[in-house]
Amino acid sequence: SETVLVAGGGQSGFQAAASLRDKGFTGRVVLVGDEPGVPYQRPPLSKAYLKGTAGEEQLRLRPEDFFAEKGIELVPGRVASVDRAASRVVLESGEELAYDHLVLATGARNRVLPVPGADLDGVLMLRTRDDADRLRSSLERASNVVVIGGGFIGLEFASHAGRPVTVVEAQDRLLARVASPEVSEFFKELHEKAGHTVLLGTGVTALHGDGHVSSVELADGSRLPADLVVVAVGVVPETTLASQAGLTVTNGVVVDEHLRTEDSKIFAIGDCANFPCVHAGAATRLESVQNAVDQARCVAAAITGDAAPYDSLPWFWTDQTDAKLQIVGILANADQTVVTGDRAEGRFSVLSFRDGVLIAVESVNRPPDHIAARRLFTAELRPSYADLEASSFDLKAHVK
Ligand code: FAD
Repeated sequence: SETVLVAGGGQSGFQAAASLRDKGFTGRVVLVGDEPGVPYQRPPLSKAYLKGTAGEEQLRLRPEDFFAEKGIELVPGRVASVDRAASRVVLESGEELAYDHLVLATGARNRVLPVPGADLDGVLMLRTRDDADRLRSSLERASNVVVIGGGFIGLEFASHAGRPVTVVEAQDRLLARVASPEVSEFFKELHEKAGHTVLLGTGVTALHGDGHVSSVELADGSRLPADLVVVAVGVVPETTLASQAGLTVTNGVVVDEHLRTEDSKIFAIGDCANFPCVHAGAATRLESVQNAVDQARCVAAAITGDAAPYDSLPWFWTDQTDAKLQIVGILANADQTVVTGDRAEGRFSVLSFRDGVLIAVESVNRPPDHIAARRLFTAELRPSYADLEASSFDLKAHVK
């Protein structure tokens, strides 16, 4: 019988293993992961787990017995190299494991801040459960907290840290890479109302301290006092294994529409994969639970003889203070936007168009719009600007 080896036991690796069993795969499923414990989900790490309202058990994707029941072999350790000619991997421990199919699900790692002092004590990042545990205990002791990076992780941390923090962002708006200017502005106001200080267009040039961080130096030479600094300046795909194996790596492991690398036995999924995205019309790497889960299902289907090109609709959510932002579609190169709903009450959606066609919907505290947009896009109904205008931009009116 065949063996599927999954390198990386996070969101997508877990899902690949579980979906193989759902699809009736009867061969060996081996999940090699280098983090302690059973596979867990990351979203609560910057939300309920950080706040302390969810514990370790709520992070787990499945209880421990699930893996034995499903015959999924959890192998702790790090895959050090791939021997493609022999179709086997070597773990850091020296153990060798053969595969018929290899799924690279190695995720991403935090981008390190390229300034002096970034390695001082009290300078932390957030990616793993261990990171979150360290942050939680540092928060209890810290008096001045500075978050570097106004993206999802930095802002979620600010929202759930339980105290005012200063967010320093180099771009001229928050969430610049992922949200429309309208949504960026809303979240800036939201965080300021919650008591946080938001500094935009502000670069960080150094971190200072004697062993432990004591201040953050900004580009204008001024310094912010800080005894806890959270660096949240994005991630880089974890492609070490793929590069070592001689696979093409360009902003992630390059795969085709079936999520296969140039080696037909090797797939790549989740945060580490750069795939041709039909919704973006370009090679894309996405960092979301939706993408990790749907790509894992797609690969499990391919391995069990049910291959179909990956075309799942991208969607995403983030929870910050009392606002839930949900995004459907890919917001690249929008040339027209419309705001519907009640912006003043904090319940609105931003509809983005390219060439007169709806390409993305961002909803703030408006779940019905999000659901309608997902239904429209999934059914490949892309109402034009004119169609939507005729219904006063009521997305629900266009769902068939
Ligand atoms: P991961 O889940 O990161 O798993 C990769 C695993 O592979 C890791 O455990 C890693 O240690 C392991 N690994 C790497 N190399 C090797 C190797 N050589 N050998 C063995 N193991 C290896 N997404 C959302 O959609 N909504 C959210 O609200 C949201 N919130 C988030 C909050 C936080 C704090 C973080 C960090 C992420 C959040 N995300 C969110 C993103 C989402 O969690 C990721 O997109 C998702 O986890 C990607 O899954 P993955 O399997 O590709 O990578």
